[in-house]
Amino acid sequence: MRGPIGVLRTRSTAAVALACALLIAGCGGGDKFAGSTSISACMDPAEARSPDIRRSLPALRGAPVCYRRQQVREGGFHWTFHILEHTRDPDGPFWVLPHDNENAAFDAAVHALLTYGGGLLAVDAGGNRTYRGQDPNRNFSATRGESRLCSGQRRPAPRYTRAILEHYRGRRGPILALHNNGDGHAGNGGYGSISMHRTGPMLSHWPGAAGMGSRALRDEDNLIFVAGRRSAYADTGMRRRIASLNAAGLNVIHKQVTSRTFDCSLSDYVALHGLGEYFNLEAEHGARTTQVEMVDRLMAVLGIRPLDSRSRGNPFLN
Ligand SMILES: [Zn+2]
Repeated sequence: MRGPIGVLRTRSTAAVALACALLIAGCGGGDKFAGSTSISACMDPAEARSPDIRRSLPALRGAPVCYRRQQVREGGFHWTFHILEHTRDPDGPFWVLPHDNENAAFDAAVHALLTYGGGLLAVDAGGNRTYRGQDPNRNFSATRGESRLCSGQRRPAPRYTRAILEHYRGRRGPILALHNNGDGHAGNGGYGSISMHRTGPMLSHWPGAAGMGSRALRDEDNLIFVAGRRSAYADTGMRRRIASLNAAGLNVIHKQVTSRTFDCSLSDYVALHGLGEYFNLEAEHGARTTQVEMVDRLMAVLGIRPLDSRSRGNPFLN
């Protein structure tokens, strides 16, 4: 089994861009986990001190999955990441879970891990959205100039940013995130901050085709969030990707990221630095079945097949 970080292979311009961004962030091309970042050996998931993983143990039992704990010290923060890896197919899709209070998202990531291989990384915030006042998904920046653009972050976090993005080195496929959000949005009497009905100057909305999959896929809160430097209207490749997602019944929101709209989220960081394709699967809190369906539909659109279209059943859909 290989370690969590593959050998750097510059297969594409995105891989080159990712390598460069990591260098800018201060990795120097040397030891992957030098200094204030450490990662444990592979352990049994039952050893994890994470309520999310404990909740998932029945689904993980007997599966070729190992657990690692990664720790990053930066400024006043001592971050802990919980990592699950498929030991037989570690190169599959890798999912980032920035928010520790989004349980459906975690469960959907476990489904993805067991079904498609790869791995997941969940930021520990003691079960809360924020950790010591910092939103983990407003903590992606490499320099002071970048962090100054973001109201949600006071200091740049190059170690944190690098530690998460290192997991994509040499890995095929897109950068993937999972989130949950509140019902509706503040502008229509709801609670969420993200919705197909919430407009914004740099946002464009692309509803999924009706009649493809469950009706829940078309709920305003269930959508795939993508981002790019250009407007979606001016980006033919992006338009083609959005059209394929829509045809699979998936709602899409696109954000155009500029130095004025950059918010230190993972999506914005990936877009600003041109690190490759990125998809964030957003579903309403508790909508586990729908989020699992979204994972499966995205994987189908990307041409990523289940490991055992073979033998294993889906532990969440039985
Ligand atoms: Zn979230």
